[in-house]
Amino acid sequence: MNENDRNGRLGKTRSTGSYQSTKLNKKKQMRQNAELKMDMAYRGQKTKNPSQERRSEPERRSSVQGSAQRRKVTQQTAQRQAAARQNSSGRVNAGRNNMEPSGTRINQTRIDTAKTAQRPHTREQMMRDKRARERYLRRRRRALCTQLALLAFSIVLLAGIVVLIKKAVIKHETVEVEANVEEEIQSVLGNVTDDSVEISKYYVYGTHFNLEGHIGTTKELKTLELVMVDDKKGLAVGQDSEEEMEKIYQLVKTIGEDGSYYFKTAENINEGINLENIDDGNYCLLLKLLYADGTKEYKSLKDAVGEQAITYYTLTESGKNQKIDIAFAQDDKGTNLSYLGMQVKRSKLPDDVYDIVIDAGHGGKDPGADKNGYTEAELTLPYAKAIKESLEDKGYKVQLTRDGSESSSEDMAYTMYDEDGRVSIACRSGAKYGISIHLNSNAEALTSGGVQVYCSVHGNPDFAKLIADGIVTDGNTNYSSMESDRVANGVYASPYSQNGVVKSTATAQKYGYTPYDYTGVDSLFMIRELGGIATGALVDGRDPRYGTNEYRNSNVGVESVLVELGYISIKSDLQNIISNQKGYVKGIAEAVEKQIEQQKKL
Ligand SMILES: [Zn+2]
Repeated sequence: MNENDRNGRLGKTRSTGSYQSTKLNKKKQMRQNAELKMDMAYRGQKTKNPSQERRSEPERRSSVQGSAQRRKVTQQTAQRQAAARQNSSGRVNAGRNNMEPSGTRINQTRIDTAKTAQRPHTREQMMRDKRARERYLRRRRRALCTQLALLAFSIVLLAGIVVLIKKAVIKHETVEVEANVEEEIQSVLGNVTDDSVEISKYYVYGTHFNLEGHIGTTKELKTLELVMVDDKKGLAVGQDSEEEMEKIYQLVKTIGEDGSYYFKTAENINEGINLENIDDGNYCLLLKLLYADGTKEYKSLKDAVGEQAITYYTLTESGKNQKIDIAFAQDDKGTNLSYLGMQVKRSKLPDDVYDIVIDAGHGGKDPGADKNGYTEAELTLPYAKAIKESLEDKGYKVQLTRDGSESSSEDMAYTMYDEDGRVSIACRSGAKYGISIHLNSNAEALTSGGVQVYCSVHGNPDFAKLIADGIVTDGNTNYSSMESDRVANGVYASPYSQNGVVKSTATAQKYGYTPYDYTGVDSLFMIRELGGIATGALVDGRDPRYGTNEYRNSNVGVESVLVELGYISIKSDLQNIISNQKGYVKGIAEAVEKQIEQQKKL
């Protein structure tokens, strides 16, 4: 899938608010009514048609034949009837009991005809016979007309249903805002103003949603909060309506040179609005400004980035998920309105969406570090598979970026941005967490090894810390003694080093590219490249041997950590990694479970 496809997919599911849900419900009701009518019409036909068609055939034939022939047929019918009476009257009765009303009528006509045939033929009798036949034919014509009318009605009904279904599908997949949407929004917003708040960035990283923006006021602010208003309840500004707000988030604010305010939901990319703990519903996101003079004001949010709808699926819990659509409402011209909505509803993970992605480092032609015939690529693969299995046992949906089936000639160091490369697979997975498994190597003969878990320099290290602690406890190992980039015991965050910036800049210049600004950017590609705009994904090194990261501008990123299980170059570490895989895997899987449980509760 390329970026356009992904954007297309995301763009198809923008939130449209409750006004559309109501419409959809009405449509659903209409559809159900139509289906019911259709079903009834169908059943009606089914019960009438076969008996009438079947039994009318000999009669229809006889009506176009001459009177002599008719007499002959009447005689034959009479003979058959007499024979039938002789054989068994019970059988005739049984047959009659099974017949529909119209069938009974036809049968009665036959019997009348048979009775007539037994008597001598007078002119009067023949006339009576003829009149009876004409009466029958009139009934037949009426029945046929009714059938045709029913058929036409069914066709019209079916066409109507098809049109309705098509409309419903289109409604669901595109953001078609009805003409009355502004009224609806107004009823939600009350007298909220939208004159000065612009959102410059919004994204999901891992399990959190974040906003960044600017507010034009220079009036001194005491606090700045983001509030989520249930749009069914509305917001009556001026009254103390805060009990109607589902959630309130304190925003981080800074003052610009002109005295106006800049704000963001959190300092860290993996903090902000926790999407794992929001009840089903339709919400409107507003800013609440509490000024130093004690007055307060609510403002809606204006989009200054262009349309970037987000679809998020929560982590699987007991086989269940929620689907969260975050988008600005649009008018019928496709212009974003000052109404940022969040629609949360029960769902199930689509086939191509996962909870967690596990990456076995290196592979193919790239062995990674090696020692005594062991390679990093070979050692990390069974780990990745075992972690997947363990997490699946806990009920999560897990994807691997490679399963060992890759060609041994594939240069995986340079194919990571390919469609089937590890970066693309991970980004496409929709996973909330990514864990990349590696082994360290050190040319200098260190005497003690230990575990290192890397996380993004822009995030809090909580998830990485849980993993490092889990491995040390269950893997019977220790935290690495390495100090550089260390943020906590066993936890590291590594921005481009000065040396790294020089190297990458030189590479870019060598190939004629303008170098990126690498300052403060995550140096580990699986952490940086899986995060999209949250981590500032780049095309690694601007080296043409790497392709292009199609997901670098994505506003949905995987919270990714890189685990160095230990040192392949240190004998005790290597032995422990080989013999105690179970312990390491237990530590990692339980850490993931703990992280998810915490997110659900927060
Ligand atoms: Zn490695």
